[in-house]
Amino acid sequence: MNQRLFSPLAAGLLALLACAATAPCWGVEHVTLRDDSGERKISGKLLVEAQDGGVLLLAPDTRLWAIEPEKIVARSHDDQPFVPLEREALAQQLLTELPEGFQILHTDHYVICYDTSRAYAEWSGQLYERLFNAFYKYWEDRNVELKPPEVPLVALVFQTKQSYADYARQELGAATEAIVGYYSLQSNRVMMYDLTGVEGAKFGDRAGFSARVNAILARPDAEMTVATIIHEATHQLAFNSGMQQRLADIPLWLSEGMAVYFETPDLKNSRGWTKVGAVNQQRLVTFRRYLQQRPADSLATLISSDDRFRDTKTAPVAYAEAWAFNYYLIRNHKQAYAQYLKLLADKGPLLSDGPEERLKQFTAIFGDDLERLDAAFVKYMLKVRL
Ligand SMILES: [Zn+2]
Repeated sequence: MNQRLFSPLAAGLLALLACAATAPCWGVEHVTLRDDSGERKISGKLLVEAQDGGVLLLAPDTRLWAIEPEKIVARSHDDQPFVPLEREALAQQLLTELPEGFQILHTDHYVICYDTSRAYAEWSGQLYERLFNAFYKYWEDRNVELKPPEVPLVALVFQTKQSYADYARQELGAATEAIVGYYSLQSNRVMMYDLTGVEGAKFGDRAGFSARVNAILARPDAEMTVATIIHEATHQLAFNSGMQQRLADIPLWLSEGMAVYFETPDLKNSRGWTKVGAVNQQRLVTFRRYLQQRPADSLATLISSDDRFRDTKTAPVAYAEAWAFNYYLIRNHKQAYAQYLKLLADKGPLLSDGPEERLKQFTAIFGDDLERLDAAFVKYMLKVRL
């Protein structure tokens, strides 16, 4: 359910030696590329130039373009400053890009593009805004320096699961059916569909709508649904607040564990989500069960590699352990956690650390004695109340 999306193109570029340091940070790069859909020109900030001539561009709408060298027809560069799109221009671009029938809802920090009821778009916008404010406040209180997003954040809300799936399939492929919402690293957008429309009902008046939202939140799968929306939007915030850079080698135990840390829904009210860092019941149960057969090197494998998250068999436990570990560190090693976030924030795109380097970076900040840290971690998590 938790989806961290790398585009296949960018994954291809990962294999190449990137030399981010040589990419000029001023001016705009213009690349004419030719692929299956014909020839087009992409302009943006040059983030990475690979040794084979492939490039990673940041477009003014914050989409990342990883362009393989064989697709590049022409390239030029000018000295104009790179300017991200203004809110109105961004909204216009979204409307041009999406099928007929989409409309725009502006909130303080988001551009919500929707083809469902206005009431549902507003409910989603309020959910995202609550998360936005909580996210910034939470980290500011913990001395983690963040910056405002360069452009308003984009959320797409589709009217039906089917129209969402049709759109998502180009990025998610066969996994689409199982995923109720996601964040795309490439387009920098979050995607979801109208959960009130699941049974084909339509809502007009506000009273009917809030009754309906309450009914949805009371359903057994609501917890997972709201959690997913918040989870994906947390990834989007991390990548737009300077906390992490897209396509940087951010360990999944940190990025996923933190997203899970934020996601815990509050289904007692129709707002669906109100606070950060509540005990995630489901993850705690999974983690406690895992403790009965947890290998001694569990923490080391979690920290040094993403493998346990990538394998569908081990992923549920890895997410639970990552949540528990973030929960423990944020509460007990506040300063070191902030310091570690700073280290990750400085990582540029498409450069990758090996397992040893990851472990070294971790122990340099949290201390060499993993065994002791592990013992304290497990002891703490056994005391957390369900
Ligand atoms: Zn995730």
